[in-house]
Amino acid sequence: MTLKAPYDPDNIFARILRGDIPAVKVWEDDHVLAFMDVFPQSEGHVLVISKSSTARTLLDIEPDVLARLTAAVQRTARAAEKALKPDGFQIMQFNGEAGGQTVFHLHFHVIPRWSDRPMKGHGHAPMADAEALRVLADRIAAALE
Ligand code: 5GP
Repeated sequence: MTLKAPYDPDNIFARILRGDIPAVKVWEDDHVLAFMDVFPQSEGHVLVISKSSTARTLLDIEPDVLARLTAAVQRTARAAEKALKPDGFQIMQFNGEAGGQTVFHLHFHVIPRWSDRPMKGHGHAPMADAEALRVLADRIAAALE
């Protein structure tokens, strides 16, 4: 999948946005959705996406939509920090197959990190239990400001 390929309206995140497949949501507004990564690389791994943009990568997104999306990433990271008290966190964002991207609807990863816990590999983490993800999502949502 090259950087310049057209947006596929049936990608997994587009289907989540349409409600065709379930997701454990953390929070949403008219513009953005934050939901739990079903293959978390660390406890509390959240994905943040735009609801309106069909950007596949960072290259495609309109700057005003990106500004809203990155503000949502910060809001999510602040809530995750407050709720889960990690030692640090990573914001990850992959572009193109060669850049490690596997779902071609632009998204940011918010990944809490603990000094004594190794992070699972990108694309190599086991699927999480939906109930456990719901508990984490509720804790993060309760810490939103
Ligand atoms: P990328 O590799 O494109 O940066 O990240 C895609 C992310 O989506 C991966 O971290 C992967 O675990 C996650 N993912 C893949 N399929 C699903 C799904 O059906 N539901 C959710 N919630 N996450 C998914």
